[in-house]
Amino acid sequence: MKDQHSSVATPSAYTDNADVANFINGSVVASTGDRKQAVYNPSTGSVARQVVLSTVEDVQTAVAAAKAAAPAWADTPPVRRARIINRFLGLMNDNIDTMAAMITAEHGKVFTDAQGEVARGIDVIEFACGIPQLLKGDYTEQVANGIDNWTMRQPLGVVAGITPFNFPCMVPCWMFPMAIATGNTFILKPSERDPSVSIFMAQLFKQAGLPDGVFNVVQGDKVVVDALLEHEDVSAISFVGSTPIAQYIYERGAHFGKRVQALGGAKNHMIIMPDADIERTVDALTGAAYGSAGERCMAISVAVLVGDVGKKILPALQERARTLKIKDGMHLDAEMGPVITKEALERIENYIAIGVEEGAELLVDGRGHKVPGHDQGFYVGGTLFDKVTPEMRIYKEEIFGPVLACVHVPDLGAAVDLVNRHEFGNGVSCFTSDGHSAREFARRIQVGMVGVNVPIPVPMAWHGFGGWKRSLFGDQHSYGEEGVRFYTKQKSIMQRWPENITKGNEFVMPTM
Ligand code: NAD
Repeated sequence: MKDQHSSVATPSAYTDNADVANFINGSVVASTGDRKQAVYNPSTGSVARQVVLSTVEDVQTAVAAAKAAAPAWADTPPVRRARIINRFLGLMNDNIDTMAAMITAEHGKVFTDAQGEVARGIDVIEFACGIPQLLKGDYTEQVANGIDNWTMRQPLGVVAGITPFNFPCMVPCWMFPMAIATGNTFILKPSERDPSVSIFMAQLFKQAGLPDGVFNVVQGDKVVVDALLEHEDVSAISFVGSTPIAQYIYERGAHFGKRVQALGGAKNHMIIMPDADIERTVDALTGAAYGSAGERCMAISVAVLVGDVGKKILPALQERARTLKIKDGMHLDAEMGPVITKEALERIENYIAIGVEEGAELLVDGRGHKVPGHDQGFYVGGTLFDKVTPEMRIYKEEIFGPVLACVHVPDLGAAVDLVNRHEFGNGVSCFTSDGHSAREFARRIQVGMVGVNVPIPVPMAWHGFGGWKRSLFGDQHSYGEEGVRFYTKQKSIMQRWPENITKGNEFVMPTM
């Protein structure tokens, strides 16, 4: 298979040896400090470039730029904001392959999957173009004699987003297009592991006509996150990442009086009923468990085998896990690439060892997987455990790698109870050909995003994304109408004109 690297243009913001810097007030700028972190190509295991780890001073500069840009941007009519976002949408569409190649180079996911990630991010930008309609308020004429009452939604001011490594384009796109469309200015703190695409998107947005200071990117680690949490001019924080950090962001953000939505980790189950179409279920489960090397917050990491369905499904599943096409993600026939870092590889292999110690049956062992010509790459093979029980750590904890655990239960009720007892509630799916089972499952399951014969039910841009339980801290989901609500505050106005003002003092609660 031809190596696709040569056919993809190199973006101007992304040359192989340059440090990944910040984007503040419309320009790429260096950090004021000298801390840096290596960004790897996970497929080769080598350092591709460095990313700056910004200082508190860098955050202050970015917040000052965003604050200065905020009044004029909030005053810009929504339809004019939408036109700029529409031009950005066009530029994003023109650059899907370029961004997908950047993602594959730093994250490791296969190129076609990276194209899909960019496309799902673009969906939200497309949704944000409808902002004039989304910001339409409510109006009630004549709530009392001569009095009208209406609501409007106004921006919060400067808002920030902190994002994980596993979707360096899509997850930021859940945040900044919505925040900016609703009239806020934005500071993005991307993952330090795959930071390049964030700068590229900021440059495209500027090219689309976005005023300087409206969208800023500050690279870095906890230093930047804490400075954003503590800064009095930052009104709201959106976070996506692991549960311990999500909880920290939620609690710290609340302490400093900010609005916070913090999306955390997951352990997503697929319930497989005895009446499921076996071939299609195996296809769906293989993709959902091993796609993106299991590094998706909506990946399926537990298969719940109901009744005797295990006998039918396990041989095929085992075969698929063993024969996955694992290679550098720029090969178009690759099904799975490497994981993000050497530490991630070691953590995943350690979990496989823990599963064996705990007494689960290891049907396919992905440890020590080598890809020819990529000996130092961070590769782990597809791994399949059977006879996993709810007490085991490999069941309870998020492994975030290509490891699928199979649990057996007698019936749908036991399957639903199992899922509902888990601390996470991000995504879940049920494969069945029975409408009643599907309906019962969808109604009784305690999970935020539910699929019926759909393995990874990521809601569309206008529906909003969010889990339940310890997969989401806060009460508003990402994007969709909840995204509009998160990034705006409601103002209610009651108005009457002098002709309708009755004479004399009013000492009692007005009733209509
Ligand atoms: P992570 O929590 O390690 O990092 C997320 C962000 O937080 C990064 O920008 C990172 O720099 C920052 N961060 C890390 N440690 C911090 C600390 N101690 N203090 C302050 N900030 C800190 O997550 P990750 O490894 O980048 O991403 C994988 C995790 O994200 C998984 O748990 C996955 O389930 C989760 N995730 C959830 C969703 C969702 O929608 N619920 C989506 C994608 C990823």
